[in-house]
Amino acid sequence: SGTVIGLDIGGTKTRGVRFRNGAPVRDESAGSSNVQNVSREQAAANLAELFGKIGGGDIDEVYAGAGGIDTEEDAQALADLIAPHAPGAHITVVHDSRLLLAAGGASAGVAVIAGTGSAAWGKNDAGEEARAGGWGYLLGDEGSGYWLGREAVRHSLRRMNQGLEPDALSRALLDSCGVEEPGKLIAMFHSPDTGRRYWAQQARLVVEAADAGDDISKAMVEQAGRDLADLARQAVRQLGMDGPVILGSGLGMNVPLLQEAFKAKLAEDGIVDVRILQQDPVFGVPRLVAEQRR
Ligand code: BGC
Repeated sequence: SGTVIGLDIGGTKTRGVRFRNGAPVRDESAGSSNVQNVSREQAAANLAELFGKIGGGDIDEVYAGAGGIDTEEDAQALADLIAPHAPGAHITVVHDSRLLLAAGGASAGVAVIAGTGSAAWGKNDAGEEARAGGWGYLLGDEGSGYWLGREAVRHSLRRMNQGLEPDALSRALLDSCGVEEPGKLIAMFHSPDTGRRYWAQQARLVVEAADAGDDISKAMVEQAGRDLADLARQAVRQLGMDGPVILGSGLGMNVPLLQEAFKAKLAEDGIVDVRILQQDPVFGVPRLVAEQRR
């Protein structure tokens, strides 16, 4: 029988899809349950909300891809949080970057997440695996939504230091944050009332300003694309292959300027088979479950 719950647990949300015989029949979201970002209690509450919406009964398999899963212990801790919601089900927890390759329909290659956080992961035909980045926002997450949001804040503060009036990007940021002057962003940034997800959401302002022709914003978006390309290249080199490389998640799927910079940087290294993911990573779950059963 075949009822599978696929979970994609990112820095901003938990997305759950119920698949029956490989086809999606329910699709729900709740807050993040990545324990790198939220407390265990919050993660447990968000998972309970999600399973409340998607239905806990009659599940054969839960397959979760989650950010912040760096060791066996991390995976086990998350599996323990999921278990009460899916009695009797087989539970698999993997790093979220593994969902993308499968969602792109590839069995070998490197996939890059550009979402709230960033990470690259891949495997080659010999079954060897490699990862790059995915260190979390305090250590890395280059090219991620959080990185772009923080760059917007830093840009606004640099202008303040130079005695310059807020430019278009700074003004958009001040409006979005509901403050009148850049100096107030400092306390706000460090306040527990904001956090990783809040700043990642401000990335949208940089993308909009870049689309409207703002040079500084364009440069930031392009830098994000190049930094993500570096992650991909590191994983590709470890695997001794040259592609395909698949770029996905919120920023990765939706920002053409970032995609172009990503492709151009990889082309410099001779990596030319670069694809943009066309669906959310969670849709890689049926393929992963099938591979696991083989
Ligand atoms: C986390 C990684 C995750 C990435 C993408 C990062 O902040 O540390 O584990 O893969 O975000 O979700």
